[in-house]
Order: sequence, then C-alpha cells, then structure tokens
Amino acid sequence: MKQITRDQIELLIELQKKEIEAETIQYELDKQPAKMAQITSVLKKFEEEIEKQTAALEDLKKGYRSFDDIIADNQARIKKREEQLRAVTTNKEYQAILKEIADIKKINSRIEDETIECLDKIDAAEKAVKEHEKNYAVEEENINQQKTALEIEADGQEKLLEGLLSEKDAISEKIDPELMKQYDFIKSQARGIAIVEVKEAVCQGCNMNIPPQMYNELHRENELRICPHCHRMLYVLY
Ligand SMILES: [Zn+2]
Repeated sequence: MKQITRDQIELLIELQKKEIEAETIQYELDKQPAKMAQITSVLKKFEEEIEKQTAALEDLKKGYRSFDDIIADNQARIKKREEQLRAVTTNKEYQAILKEIADIKKINSRIEDETIECLDKIDAAEKAVKEHEKNYAVEEENINQQKTALEIEADGQEKLLEGLLSEKDAISEKIDPELMKQYDFIKSQARGIAIVEVKEAVCQGCNMNIPPQMYNELHRENELRICPHCHRMLYVLY
C-alpha cells in the first residue's frame, strides 16, 4: 500500500468538497435556460392571445365592410327599380315593382340593424385588445424583472463557481500526481465520490462495515486504504 501523509488526505477531502460544491452550482446553472424559457413562455401566451383577438377584430371589420357593400348594392337596385316605375304601363307591373322595392328596403333595414350590432362588437373587441395590451405591458415589465433577477443570480453563481474552480486547481497542485490520478479514477467509477469517512468501522460511502483490522490501521498508519465493498478511499477523523 502506498504511504500517504495526513496532509495529502486532508487535501483530497478539501478537493472533493470543492468539487461537490462546484458541481451543485453547475447543476443549478444548467437549469437556467429552462427557467428562462419558462418565464418567457408566459409572455408568449399573452402574445398569442392578443394575436387571436386582433384577428377576430379584423374579421368583424371585414364583415362590417361587406354589410356596407350589400347596402350600397341594394340602394342601387332600389334606384334602378324607381326609374323603371316611371316607364311601366300596367298597374300590376307597377305594384310588383313597388313590392320589390319594399322588400329590398326591408332587407337593407335588417342589414343596417346587423351593422349596428357589428359596430358594437367591433367596439367591444377593440376594448378587449387594448385591455390585453395593457396587461401585456404590465406582465412584460414583471417578466423583465424576473429575468434580470435570474441573470443577477446566475452571475453570482458563475463567480462563485469560478472561485471554487480556481481553489480546486490550487489544491490539486499540492496533491501527489499519482494519488490524484487514483482519486480521479475512483471518482469516475464511484458516482462522483472518491474519498469517504469511516465512522465506527462503517464506510460512509456504502454503509458497510470494513474489517476491524483495517479500521484500526486507519487510525494508526499512513497508508491509503480502500473500502473493500465500494472501492473508495477511506479516512477517519481524529
Ligand atoms: Zn464503502
């Protein structure tokens, strides 16, 4: 077994602590884009709602214009019939044209009513769009604040992470390269935890008992011990 100083073990423990802290921060930072997208999606829904309402308003306006066209057409028809009236020779024909004119006027009157209804609907739709745009502006402001808060938080975490990574590098430099290699290998094999404490003969990495002799040696000798069950490096606190 390799001789190892207590100092080296403490460096490994400290290194692992920094690495875990850095990984935790990185994990949070990785969630940042999803959080940002979640916040922005609220605004997107608002935008879609406004687009839908604006399209409905446009349809109403189109309908209003077509009513106008029909009324104008009908008025032209009435005028034509009135001209025809002057040329008719029989009473029957005269009455027929009069009835036709009355029918067209009735239709126009109904369309005019519908036009008024349509105008009311346009008015209501315009108000709804304006109201939504107002709410959108409030929500946008709110979301921009949330985004800024998130960015500030992320900046803070980035700085913290940078600090931890440079501390980690500084610690690694003090660790024997062979030992470092072994540590990295175990870490990659043992779900990110390479060095664990042994408490009352129980490995805190796998919760299994280590042999009593190994436990005693851990207290006495400066040799690197490996858990026979989870193969992590072991240490005891004095
Ligand atoms: Zn173990």
